[in-house]
Amino acid sequence: ENRAKQAMLKAHQLVGKLYHYVLTETPYGKEAMTYLSKRGLSPQTIAEFQIGFAPDSWDFVTQFLQKRGFSLDLMVEAGLLAKSEAGNIFDRFRGRIMFPIHDSQGNIIGFGGRLLDTASASRQQAKQPKYLNSPESPLFNKSATLFNLHRARPFMRKRKQALLFEGYVDVVSAWQAGFPQGIATLGTALTEQQARIIRRNVEQVVLCYDGDAAGQEATAKAIHVLQEAGLIVRVAPLPQGTDPDDYIRQHGPEAFSQQVLLQAMPVTAFRLKHLRASHVIQDETDQAQFIEKALAIVNELNSPVERDLYLRQLAEEYAISLDTLKWEARRLYKQQK
Ligand code: ATP
Ligand code: MN
Ligand code: MN
Ligand code: MN
Repeated sequence: ENRAKQAMLKAHQLVGKLYHYVLTETPYGKEAMTYLSKRGLSPQTIAEFQIGFAPDSWDFVTQFLQKRGFSLDLMVEAGLLAKSEAGNIFDRFRGRIMFPIHDSQGNIIGFGGRLLDTASASRQQAKQPKYLNSPESPLFNKSATLFNLHRARPFMRKRKQALLFEGYVDVVSAWQAGFPQGIATLGTALTEQQARIIRRNVEQVVLCYDGDAAGQEATAKAIHVLQEAGLIVRVAPLPQGTDPDDYIRQHGPEAFSQQVLLQAMPVTAFRLKHLRASHVIQDETDQAQFIEKALAIVNELNSPVERDLYLRQLAEEYAISLDTLKWEARRLYKQQK
């Protein structure tokens, strides 16, 4: 059991180096290298994250591992190789840019593989998913792993804050732009376990999910999980249709800091903004309905001072007397409980 795990770790380490070598030193990695540099990733960043390329071959890694005496069945279990129903073993990752995923000690335990956008027509037609991650394995427990945690941890602690992203590329791009305290989930929703791991290192999280419908929905869910773990959450506003990597590339690190991170909203402000955006207010009835929902959000705050501040904002914004709002808030509060 333990020996099998050691072999899996060793294999991940070697294959991580192999993918990186293929990307940076061989003709097979040239197209991927061009793609990455077009996306603005520097050679230093590619080296730091040991980004690699899995060549478009069925047996490149299989042969490599076999030559080094690894049990191929064990390598299937580790997720580096795959096995067909007929029992044939082949490379799991083919024609993909490879992002190594580490445990908290810095051992590679899995990979995230991104299809090259310029991939051959046949591969596009085969409707391959954009991202293919390693499967769960004795090494790789997705719900207890965060991408980049081992690198980000000292910076999270120093800056007393974590930046939580959706994508590997967002983390890498932020790191390159001078924001090294970024981590990401692994293509799955944030789990309680991941939130507890974050809480062990910092008290505050800035959510930097994509500025699209999926990102907003994931944000709402992540807020809940993070708060349950005792974290203070803020939500960074990404313009519609962009993700942090897009934003940094278009506007630069300074704007990302000033316009996105420093504009991160407390959860209540985020919810109120969301509510406003999803409500058409045409007459007094609509407005009253909106106010009721807004008060329900404000009522969830534990701090009376914070509640008061939001009630004042609402009173001003909708020209309602503060007394009336407070009275209504209290009435709703009794119903909510
Ligand atoms: P890129 O900028 O290269 O297109 P991205 O990080 O912006 O990548 P998204 O489509 O926003 O890509 O996805 C965000 C994250 O969600 C990915 O990093 C990956 O972890 C996960 N993901 C996306 N698609 C899949 C998929 N088909 N299977 C598993 N995970 C996925
Ligand atoms: Mn997205
Ligand atoms: Mn994205
Ligand atoms: Mn992106």
